[in-house]
Amino acid sequence: MSVVVVGGGLAAGTAVTSLRDSGYDGRVVVVAAEEHPPYERPPLSKGYLLGDDPIEVVYLHEPEWYAENEVELRLGEPVVAIDRAARSVRTATEELPYDHLVLATGAVPRRLRLADESGRPVSYLRTIEDAQRLRASLGAASRVAIVGGGWIGLEVAAAARAAGADVTVHETAPLPLLAVLGPEVAQVFADVHRAHGVDLRLGAAVTAADLQDADHVVVGIGAVPQTTLAEAAGLAVDDGVLVDARLRTSDPAVFAIGDVAKVDHPVLGRRVRVEHWQTAIDHGAAVGRTLAGDETEVTAQPYFYTDQYDLGMEYVGSLGPAGYDRVVLRGDTRAPRFTAFWLREGTVVAGMHVNDWDAIEPVRALVGHRADPDRLADAGVGLETLVGEAARG
Ligand SMILES: Cc1cc2nc3c(=O)[nH]c(=O)nc-3n(C[C@H](O)[C@H](O)[C@H](O)COP(=O)(O)OP(=O)(O)OC[C@H]3O[C@@H](n4cnc5c(N)ncnc54)[C@H](O)[C@@H]3O)c2cc1C
Repeated sequence: MSVVVVGGGLAAGTAVTSLRDSGYDGRVVVVAAEEHPPYERPPLSKGYLLGDDPIEVVYLHEPEWYAENEVELRLGEPVVAIDRAARSVRTATEELPYDHLVLATGAVPRRLRLADESGRPVSYLRTIEDAQRLRASLGAASRVAIVGGGWIGLEVAAAARAAGADVTVHETAPLPLLAVLGPEVAQVFADVHRAHGVDLRLGAAVTAADLQDADHVVVGIGAVPQTTLAEAAGLAVDDGVLVDARLRTSDPAVFAIGDVAKVDHPVLGRRVRVEHWQTAIDHGAAVGRTLAGDETEVTAQPYFYTDQYDLGMEYVGSLGPAGYDRVVLRGDTRAPRFTAFWLREGTVVAGMHVNDWDAIEPVRALVGHRADPDRLADAGVGLETLVGEAARG
């Protein structure tokens, strides 16, 4: 038996680890377009970009792990085609047969033509090489214009400020992170960045003139799932490769995981494609177990974290298209140290903490449960008590 995993990110690396941890003893091959063994990306916009961590922190394993665990690596060799009838994939140099195929092709940054044509040096941040170039160009007296007030834009803003650069962030929405956090909590992030000297320009689309004075432009306006291979192979695709709760595509021999997978989520009750670190891990772990014979669904709520200046936060859940009708804040949003809960019709659909690290497990336990908003808002009632009440219904 053999498994071929296409991709070299966190999802691919976790999948092959899980295959071996789960006792799979067939052939395992990772085919990666990048020249690196599987690595994770969060440090590229945080510890590495800040100069706090060496680049080696990104790798999932020591280089020798792959040989020791009989995982074959093909690096710098993109898969160019899948032949589902023959059960094989093709690179420029070889044809690899598979019994099961795992697509972990991730996503690539959405490009902004206005920036590409601005004549200024432009960075997108996805790969090790992107981060190395960006880190080299951040420095005192440089003027950095960031397009996009999402997670990556804001993390880069924090790193650029730490490097002493003048930073402007251009965001079309009236607040950064508005769609994910809603106005109440998005305002906290806007305040934190302004307090650190970032010039936030909100509520207007960036123009060519806005970028003319920048020494460096960084574009962080979202990512596009890499579905080309899957589409060409005739798999069902709709803003991601469509998979069931066990991560199977429309072809039962082919799985898709991580950023590229759009999952029929059994708990959320809708299709979701989640571009988060924990999801790549959950998917990789689940597909490894399934292919080792232990069929596993992914049921976890999306989880995300960020670090910006001295603000660390963790977020669990998903507002989804239906949004929320009430937000409850506990604690001090100026410190900042607080928890936030978003409710829809009495059910907690998402929760987060800022700088209150013990809160994450109770927050996680409350997401998906009904809760009384007034009890949630009462800082005198401990989170553990609320978890107990939610569990009793
Ligand atoms: C700078 C940055 C910071 C982030 N920080 C956070 C964070 O703080 N918290 C969080 O939750 N998430 C964060 N994320 C998101 C998180 O990194 C992604 O969710 C995660 O990388 C997804 O892993 P993946 O393996 O699915 O995809 P990817 O990491 O995108 O890996 C996919 C790999 O597949 C390769 N590939 C594509 N096509 C082919 C092909 N045809 N043949 C072979 N290989 C191919 C690509 O080259 C790529 O290396 C961050 C992302 C970035 C870019």
